Amino acid sequence: MRPKGRKSLQGVNINSYISLALIAALTTVLLSLYGDSTRSITESGKKLVQKVLRVINKTPKKRKVSKKKEDIVNNYEKLIMTYKTINKFETAIKKREGGGFMVRRAVGDKVDNVDPFLMLDHLGPTVYGPGEAIGAPDHPHRGFETVTYVIDGGIQHKDSVGNTGNLGPGWVQWMTAGSGVVHSEMPTDDLLKTGGRMEGFQLWVNLPKKFKMVPPRYQDTPPEKIPTVTSPDGNTTVKVIAGDCLGTNAAIETRIPIMFLDIKVNRGASFDVSIPENTNSFVYVWRGNGFLGSENRPVTMGQIAVLSGEGDAFQLKASNDSALHAFVIAGQPINEPIARYGPFVMNTFDEIEQAFSDFRSGKLGEIEGAAERRAKTDEAVNQSKNTGNWEKH
Ligand code: MN
Repeated sequence: MRPKGRKSLQGVNINSYISLALIAALTTVLLSLYGDSTRSITESGKKLVQKVLRVINKTPKKRKVSKKKEDIVNNYEKLIMTYKTINKFETAIKKREGGGFMVRRAVGDKVDNVDPFLMLDHLGPTVYGPGEAIGAPDHPHRGFETVTYVIDGGIQHKDSVGNTGNLGPGWVQWMTAGSGVVHSEMPTDDLLKTGGRMEGFQLWVNLPKKFKMVPPRYQDTPPEKIPTVTSPDGNTTVKVIAGDCLGTNAAIETRIPIMFLDIKVNRGASFDVSIPENTNSFVYVWRGNGFLGSENRPVTMGQIAVLSGEGDAFQLKASNDSALHAFVIAGQPINEPIARYGPFVMNTFDEIEQAFSDFRSGKLGEIEGAAERRAKTDEAVNQSKNTGNWEKH
């Protein structure tokens, strides 16, 4: 049943794949009638279907697979999928962070942590007037990774290793703090000067003990380098920030296996996303509204669902009046003790004390212009005291 290898696979045409998928489907149905030893068949069958989908996705338009064949493959995939269920459902709390900017905290409060994810902050959306934009001036990190994803506005970053850059709409910065950096995350000069809309995200990914003290690393990725994949029915587009989706792999490298998808489901449509079994995963809706899972749980912007380890898929459905924008984030749990204090995440409190002492003695470095950034932040906080409003939704 299993194809013998990559080389022979590439030589087989679509029709052969469809035939193989049909045979796999029939075998699965027959075996499920006669016994419970279907698991391994199902797994290999599923791999086969994924390969078929990959080939279909890469098929040029003129060789377009007929709707009927596509349906057969989709139906077969439904047959062998088991859905994850919702373990916990919460609305993100609203608070101020860094120099005083407003966030919705989805992970790191009511949802404490979803190992290996320590925090997910949704920055804004905020509409700033001139001089009001607030960032996070110079501060240290050690022992984990910060992932910054900008939707609107801009963030200017600088660090003690000498990296500097502007993150505009669609950019992702995957920063491995590792042994430690001091960095600043400030609004871009333009945003501060003229004001405007700011929306973005920061995800904190823990590192296992063996990687906590690796050298710091930055992966600043522009939007055009983030692969996008469209579902076979054309109703869902997925930005593959980390991991893979529908056979498309991310450009960003991660220290431990992580899946980070930014999914847009068109109004009235639904999408079954594959999420590896036995990972910790969650869905965060950042715009629009719809329904989650086979239980059709109504969901709106700012809400999070933590999913079960069992199951290998989850259904996202957009309502009839808006598209649904959601993150699906999954990772292998690290299962190590977490000692967390402010900007440091280690395994023991002795290591936290060491981090503070290293920071104070200047071992994590410093960046020129710290006082100026602090002053800019204070000024903006003062300016925006009674404004800097949440965008209405
Ligand atoms: Mn930071």
